[in-house]
Amino acid sequence: MVGAHKGGDVAVIGAGLIGLAIAFELAERGAQVRVFDRGEPGRAASWAGAGMLAPYTEHIEDESVLDLCERSLGAYPEFTERVRAASGIDPHLRLNGIVHAAFDASGVGRLSAHALDLARRGVAHDVLDREQTLAFEPWLGTHVAGSLLVRGEGSIDNRRFGRALAAACDARGVSFVRDAIDLAVECDDRRVLGVRSERGFATCSIVVNAAGAWAAQLPGVPPSARPAVRPVKGQMLALAVPRGFVRHTTWVQGAYLVPRDDGRLLVGATVEDEDFDQRVTAAGIRQLLDAALSAAPALGAFSIGETWAGLRPGTPDGRPYLGATPIEGLLLATGHFRNGILLAPITAKLLASYIDGSLAPGALDAFGLARDGAPNAHRTGVV
Ligand SMILES: Cc1cc2nc3c(=O)[nH]c(=O)nc-3n(C[C@H](O)[C@H](O)[C@H](O)COP(=O)(O)OP(=O)(O)OC[C@H]3O[C@@H](n4cnc5c(N)ncnc54)[C@H](O)[C@@H]3O)c2cc1C
Repeated sequence: MVGAHKGGDVAVIGAGLIGLAIAFELAERGAQVRVFDRGEPGRAASWAGAGMLAPYTEHIEDESVLDLCERSLGAYPEFTERVRAASGIDPHLRLNGIVHAAFDASGVGRLSAHALDLARRGVAHDVLDREQTLAFEPWLGTHVAGSLLVRGEGSIDNRRFGRALAAACDARGVSFVRDAIDLAVECDDRRVLGVRSERGFATCSIVVNAAGAWAAQLPGVPPSARPAVRPVKGQMLALAVPRGFVRHTTWVQGAYLVPRDDGRLLVGATVEDEDFDQRVTAAGIRQLLDAALSAAPALGAFSIGETWAGLRPGTPDGRPYLGATPIEGLLLATGHFRNGILLAPITAKLLASYIDGSLAPGALDAFGLARDGAPNAHRTGVV
């Protein structure tokens, strides 16, 4: 079965960064790919996210997820270069490090403990005192006591990356079915048959469920192939600051701040179990502003340019679902929770290799529907 699809017809349901990255990788390897979405490509969580590429900053305890995140961070420069070459759009990959700021002695102590963990793992980092921190980020001036700079991490402008991936897919011959209504997978008892929408039925030998937080709801998926994905809401806002005012993605107590090249400073993010509610609330925005302004009162002078919310695809154990289901040809690429932007390149490579038969047997076992025993990584609150 695997390997029989070289150049074959693959349908990807969901045009978030995960679905788009898979479609692009497959198309570059010669497959015929159709992407279905009920909306526009690169929206949903992939548009709402902060774009941090931060395996070590995220304190991921599950070794299989951390390993996946490390591999994806390593794959980012080459992957985005291919996307840029195909699309002509630069997605603004910035791997200039992430700063963790501390504001008192106990915060400095926590950063030292984190630095020891990083050293054990061989991750390049610097512990900076107050003066060194201010040389990096003067806006932290009022209270900062010291910081930890995790080298090699950074961010990408995920909205640009979505546009770039969609254009790269177009350039590589991927066809899009946008604004699809009543989309459903069709299967018999044993295997997938194709995808039905109001525009008719498309026969496909492979269907990839990359429907993000909605992956468990995808019509037509048999119960045995349904991933245990649920929505985890995140609210964010953007301040309009002068370009270069904040140079590094910076974590403070209760929030993170991500600078964009256009002068927006993203402040995120809440973590809320709110079903499919995507409202921006006063309490959510207050929480973020309280955290940002108590760390750096100077930020209070800037205007709020934008507020938004999105739904992360959460799973019970914090691992994504990647690869086969009991239904032949129906594959999963969902449940990337807080790290779906980071994990897009490795997900694309793994799924494409699984489909073209070049992946080592068992390589996706830790992310299969039948896995168990992973620690529960989910928590609610802020950041
Ligand atoms: C506030 C916030 C901050 C985040 N910050 C980061 C971060 O800094 N770094 C990081 O790596 N990750 C971050 N994430 C997580 C990341 O955004 C997600 O893990 C990732 O975007 C998931 O991508 P996806 O393609 O699986 O899902 P989505 O981007 O949600 O795309 C799913 C697509 O499926 C389509 N779809 C669903 N159901 C159907 C259907 N029935 N028919 C047709 N189409 C359907 C939707 O329309 C959508 O386009 C953040 C998320 C949020 C909300």
